[in-house]
Parts: sequence; structure tokens; C-alpha cells
Amino acid sequence: MKKSLKIPQFVENFMDVFRKNGYKIFVVGGAVRDLLLDRSTQNWDFTTNAKPDEIQGFFDKSIYNNDFGTVVIPIQNTATSKIKFIFEVTPFRKESSYDDFRHPTHIEWAQTIEEDLQRRDFTINALAYDGKHLIDISESQHDIEKKIIRAVGDPDQRFKEDALRLMRAIRFASELEFLIEEKTHKAIAHNAHLIQNISWERIREEFIKILSSDHPAEGIIFLKQTGLLKFILPELEACFSIEQKSPKRHHIYDVGTHSIETLRHTPTKDPITRFAALLHDIGKVETVQKDKQTGVITFHDHEIIGAKKAEGVAYRFRLSRKQKEKLVTLVHRHMFSVQEKQTDKAIRRFIRTVGTENLQDVLDLRTGDRIGSGSQPTSWRTELFKKRLIEVQKKPFTVHDLKITGNDVMKTLGLPPGPKIGEILEQLFEKVADGTLKNEKKILLEELSKNEK
Ligand code: ATP
Ligand code: MG
Repeated sequence: MKKSLKIPQFVENFMDVFRKNGYKIFVVGGAVRDLLLDRSTQNWDFTTNAKPDEIQGFFDKSIYNNDFGTVVIPIQNTATSKIKFIFEVTPFRKESSYDDFRHPTHIEWAQTIEEDLQRRDFTINALAYDGKHLIDISESQHDIEKKIIRAVGDPDQRFKEDALRLMRAIRFASELEFLIEEKTHKAIAHNAHLIQNISWERIREEFIKILSSDHPAEGIIFLKQTGLLKFILPELEACFSIEQKSPKRHHIYDVGTHSIETLRHTPTKDPITRFAALLHDIGKVETVQKDKQTGVITFHDHEIIGAKKAEGVAYRFRLSRKQKEKLVTLVHRHMFSVQEKQTDKAIRRFIRTVGTENLQDVLDLRTGDRIGSGSQPTSWRTELFKKRLIEVQKKPFTVHDLKITGNDVMKTLGLPPGPKIGEILEQLFEKVADGTLKNEKKILLEELSKNEK
């Protein structure tokens, strides 16, 4: 693979600081890989023979991370002056002893770049570039060309040192559209259980990266094949034993396969919507029932059980409150009806329960769900429903949408039934419609009492 690698000027300028001070400096890891693959890079990592305190001396602003020996330096790209980059510089390091499958017991500096490359996880990440020469000690360029993910050195040992690498291999495969080399793949399967030593925050980071990649469904298939899935998402693993092919039903796949196919076909890049697509049917495990006579399989209320389970997953993955709410809502509401006979009021209620911010996502999930069960992407009913969603949101609210009723008016003001009640409601409605009053029960009741005085 002969290619000239173009380092942007602001990165060259940064490297010059080290060169001028008499040190070696290399771009390493993902950035070199991305340069070779012509992918854009946000994340620049460097390695040098300068030590942390020396590196810190070169720059006004920097932070030292003790755990990894990394100095973090914020850099402004002067060409596109608004973009800020976080450059990470780590002095040449050796692989040191690991005693808990995740942290090196202590950091040891290395003398040479070659030693440093030896400690890196995969060959595709074990390249260094000083602006002129590419240092390749593990046939990295060959593997990049052949699109192969291969552990540097003995895969079994490398996964035992740091079990997060099990997921990183799969993450790179789904991001880059690479395959995992056989020995490395076997070693992932063999060591899958070690993932239990890794914190859920770190697992979540890699998992969300898999979901956000160009090939999330392939990522989940890798997790399943290697046996990692049962440790990370046992709720989904259980779905693969639930059959749903039965008379009068359109399903062709078991629930697990259907979930992956739904993820594959949900037309969004949003990782939480993708997560919901993957989990939308997890409630089927507990609710499956087969009619003895007809053989028909049903899953009553699976979306309610599923929402509860999704909440558990969100908690375990330490999702933010907002992410959790979205995940749970999408799983809970994925069974929404597109029946053409629904009233405007019913459609409004649907919009309220899903939330306008999740409306497109729940529709996307429906598209994925349909294709993922072997149906057409949409139906005339679905299209009609989408039109009505838009129309209903455009239409002004009517007096019937007020959060109080005639009964509330009569009770609050002590009035008997009659045309007066309607008039009062109309007056309130005017104010809500023109935005001077909020459509909230408490506020509307207060307004009523105010006018009474
Ligand atoms: P990206 O930035 O796209 O996530 P990357 O390859 O740069 O990909 P980082 O997590 O930024 O990945 O790490 C930078 C480099 O540090 C990697 O390319 C790899 O060489 C090394 N590295 C990171 N994590 C590990 C690890 N757990 N074990 C061994 N080497 C690692
Ligand atoms: Mg990186």
C-alpha cells in the first residue's frame, strides 16, 4: 500500500513544537488508520519520547491523566478557527502487568516507538507516522488493505490483559466494515466471560459506538456469535429462542433475529432509537402463548413488559435520564395503531403520550419493524396516519381539547348547566389559542376563580 499521507497544517504545527525541542513525535492509532482509509479524523492521538512534565512545559494549557500517562492538550484549528480539537499525547509505553483484566497495575515507559506499537490492541491501530515515515511492525497496512481486525501478538493474552478489547474489536468491525481474523475471533469467544470485569460505563461507550456505526446490525450479530451478548444484553439473547411463526401471522423470524433485522432497517442514525429498535420486542419472552388448538402464537401486552425491561437495561447501562425516557417510551409505544377511523382527539392523545420530539423516531421504528418482519416498508394506512399526524398538529385546538370541562366550570363557579358554561369555556379557549393562557388544569381553574371575584 503506497500512499502519501497528508497531515493537516495545524497538526504539523503541533508536531513541530516537539521536533523543535529535540523530541520525536508520531501520530498513532485511529488517526493513521483513518488517513490510510481516507476517512476524516476527529480524534488525533500522538506518542513521543518526551515525558509528561516535559510535554506539559511546551503548552499553556494541558491536563495530565495519571492512569494512562496521557497529556491532554486543547488545540484550535486555525484554518477553520471555530473547531477545537483535543490532542492526546502519551509517551512511549510498554505493556505492563494486568491483574484484573482491565487496568495495568502501573505504567511503564518504553524507549522506542516499536515497543510502544507492540502494546496496542489491534494491528489496524498499531501504526505510527512521524510526517515522513510510517512505522509498521505488525503488517498493519496489509490488514487495513484486506479489511481485517487482528490482535497484535497473542490474541488470547491480549484479551486477558484488557477485556474491553473484546468489544473494541467488534466496534471497529462495525465502524469500518472489517472482518475479525479467525484466531482473534476465536479468542473473543473464548474470553467473552471476562467482559464481566469491565464497568458498565465503558461497556456502554463501546455499545453506543456499535449502535452509532454504519453497520449496527452486524455489530450485534458479532456480539451474539462471540457469546458477548448474553453477558451484555441477556434480555435480547433470550429472544432468539422465541419462535413466532404461526398460522395467520406474518412473522418469519424468531424474536431475536427479528430484533436485529428491525435495527438494520430502522432509518435513523440516532443511537437511542436504534437501541429501542433492538429492544422493542424483549417483552415477548415473558408473554408468549401458544393456543393448543389453533397453534396461534400471541404476545399480549408485550410492549408493557418490554418497557419495564427496557428501563432495567437503561439503568444497567447508566443511560442519562433523557436517554432512558426516550428508550422506554419508544419500546412502550411501538404498537401504536394506524387505524384510519381514529378521531383527531385520539391522534392528539397519541402525540402527547409519545411526545412530539419522539414522533419521527417512533415512525422510524415502525418502518424498521415492518421491514424486519418481511413486510413492505409502509402501508396506505401508515401513510394516511402520518398525514393526519401532520394535519392534526397544524389544526388549532378546539374547545374540547381544553384541560378542563363544563363540569369543572360549574363546580368552580357554582353555576347550573346552561349556555353560559359553553360561553365561559369559549372565552378560556380563546386565551389558550392565542397563547396568553397555558392549557393546564391548575392554571385554567385559577383563571376561573379570578374572574369570579
Ligand atoms: P477512535 O478514536 O475512532 O475511537 P482509536 O483507534 O483512535 O479509534 P482510541 O480509543 O482513541 O481508539 O485509542 C487510541 C489508540 O490507543 C488506539 O488506536 C490503540 O492503538 C490504543 N488503544 C486504545 N485503547 C486500547 C486498549 N484498550 N488496549 C490497547 N491499545 C489501546
Ligand atoms: Mg482515537
